Amino acid sequence: MAQKWTYDEQSFWRQQFPSCGGRRQSPININTDKLIKDKSLQLKLIDYDKPFPNLSANNNGHTVAIELDSNRKRPQLSVGQGLYDLSELHFHWGDNNLEGTEHSIDNYFGSAELHFVHYNTLYGNLLNARQNINGVVVLTVISQLSRSENNAIQPIIKALRHITRFNTSATIANQIVFSKFLPLNKQLFFTYKGSLTTPPCSESVQWIIYADPIRMSPFQLSQFRRLHKREINRRIIANTRDIQKRHGREVRVSVPQPNRDSTFDDNNYNDIDY
Ligand SMILES: [Zn+2]
Repeated sequence: MAQKWTYDEQSFWRQQFPSCGGRRQSPININTDKLIKDKSLQLKLIDYDKPFPNLSANNNGHTVAIELDSNRKRPQLSVGQGLYDLSELHFHWGDNNLEGTEHSIDNYFGSAELHFVHYNTLYGNLLNARQNINGVVVLTVISQLSRSENNAIQPIIKALRHITRFNTSATIANQIVFSKFLPLNKQLFFTYKGSLTTPPCSESVQWIIYADPIRMSPFQLSQFRRLHKREINRRIIANTRDIQKRHGREVRVSVPQPNRDSTFDDNNYNDIDY
């Protein structure tokens, strides 16, 4: 159920949701000069290539969310000791095409941010998982502006026109293959310990942020801004939380194995055009 809070009042979230004032909050700026290289980081995606027919897109007043129902096998992610089930994919965007991400990389923002929210299978569901320090993994994809449309994401874009009103949902016409929303280079990613970026801001999230972006066109981005908030005739023009203090937290970066991706250059995150 959507809670009553707004992005306009985010500096007051902590009054109602104390965790929002904590020291392990998200999003943060990722400073690529201060990354800790971690050869032991292994991220494995399971069933991300599997097609999912008849999924719905829901307007919950804060974003569009594509939720997976619990009675069929969902895509999974494994990192460290944990195995995590995909619970939903949702989007963040901005009031302009250049600043719509929650996380920034070297103080640069992208156009939109995709959050693949997973919960630790130990806890059975997202609600329980978010009360635990190792409860949630959010796999994060940054989208940059592109002149051409992203065809893979088009089925979701097409559904947006049917869910402009708060609390409406529409079936996505095509089957969804979640791996198609991920960048080609899945070997290079940043990770840090943070929180949900919406109330209650639970400090239960390991963030995994791909270094490489995907792309969406100005038209595609404009379709997200058609969605309405809970309040009648108020559109979701931007749904990003402000950058939070790092408070000394480490940000780690994967060290990809050269044999898995021959075109890969260990230091190429410095060359990415953010
Ligand atoms: Zn999110």
